[in-house]
Amino acid sequence: MGQYGFNTTLLHGIDNTDPFGATHVPIYQSSAFRHESAEELEQIFANKAMGFSYTRINNPTIEAFEKRIAKLEGGVGSIACASGMAALTNAILNILQSGDEIVAGCGLYGGTVELFDELESFGITTRYVKENVSQEYETLINDRTRLIFAETIGNPKLDVTDIAAVAQVAHAHGLPFMVDNTTATPYLIQPLKLGADIVVHSSSKYINGSSNAISGVLIYGGKFKWDAQRYPGIKPFLKFGPFAYLAKLRNGLFRSMGACLSPQNAFLNNLGLETLGLRVERQCSNALKLAEYIKSLDTGVAVNYPGCPDSPYHELAKKQLHGGYGAILTLRAGSKERAFGIINALKLPLIVSNIGDTKTLVIHPASTIAAHLSKEAQRESGVYEDQIRISVGIEDIEDLKQDFKNAIEKEV
Ligand SMILES: *Cc1c(COP(=O)(O)O)cnc(C)c1O
Repeated sequence: MGQYGFNTTLLHGIDNTDPFGATHVPIYQSSAFRHESAEELEQIFANKAMGFSYTRINNPTIEAFEKRIAKLEGGVGSIACASGMAALTNAILNILQSGDEIVAGCGLYGGTVELFDELESFGITTRYVKENVSQEYETLINDRTRLIFAETIGNPKLDVTDIAAVAQVAHAHGLPFMVDNTTATPYLIQPLKLGADIVVHSSSKYINGSSNAISGVLIYGGKFKWDAQRYPGIKPFLKFGPFAYLAKLRNGLFRSMGACLSPQNAFLNNLGLETLGLRVERQCSNALKLAEYIKSLDTGVAVNYPGCPDSPYHELAKKQLHGGYGAILTLRAGSKERAFGIINALKLPLIVSNIGDTKTLVIHPASTIAAHLSKEAQRESGVYEDQIRISVGIEDIEDLKQDFKNAIEKEV
């Protein structure tokens, strides 16, 4: 990140050259940009001059967001999209074609699993590891594999991927490693620095921070050595060197699919980003205190949190994450009825399917975000009938503790 720390970089890391000195990059709420001459626009369309033509391709407010995210994740560039799902779809289809296979982590975000199911009808199949360890990824690789995919912290299983180890396996087989870093955020970990090649975010979550805009973003590390035989589509773009992957996407599928971010939402993300470090620091600290407190109550409610020494992922989380263990924890109440009772008795948390808000959020995954999965698939994803997922917010910790104590003790 250069000479400055995370928060300083966030606030001062990119040039704001607004001609009027606006302290925030303004909302350029314009679909198109006019030019002085036909020649000028010709140059922009031919990628021979910098500039904006049409917001589906790029826009100054969106570009400011992309530059900031690329800097935070340590990438050579990034592309912002209409949603996290749009970012994943773009990131994957930019390099895969019919006949290719993905090897993916277990316990992935439900929407991602549904996307992988959809890709089957386009001839792209996915194999999932059963245990999130690098050896399992390796055993699933064959000569059709073209991508390794994982999430930094799975949700709601809260398994942690060993990014450096999986990257090593991927690269030994000439494969790019893509990481969904939504739940961890670049405040806790920058997967590109540990060997990942492409990072994807649902910036609807922690990056935005206040649940006021749907968006996604993908960041490229610039280092992967593309083999033009295995990834034939990238061949014409190899002349762009470290930007080959991004050049292919922005000139191809991204502009053709049209799932661009709106300037208004890019502005909200730029605003939210300024407090990312502060929020995540507080959310992680609250999550750890809340996890330890609920454990100490001894009420038969089990706590799963990578920050607790009894999590099977504690040592890896400790080694790999810096500044906290994430802000999601899960409880097991003993029965679905008790889980519902606790959720309904809580006064502060909102019952919401989202994560990453400033406010604490709770949900019963088995009947909502994981309801489409079979019982067996739920078990593999770490989803249980008696489970409550908590996305911890920035409230005063004593208030959260009291609220959870009251709700848990009321529902026995
Ligand atoms: C929410 C989420 C997504 C999807 O993002 P949207 O912005 O809702 O499209 C993808 N991955 C993870 C880990 C998520 O939490």
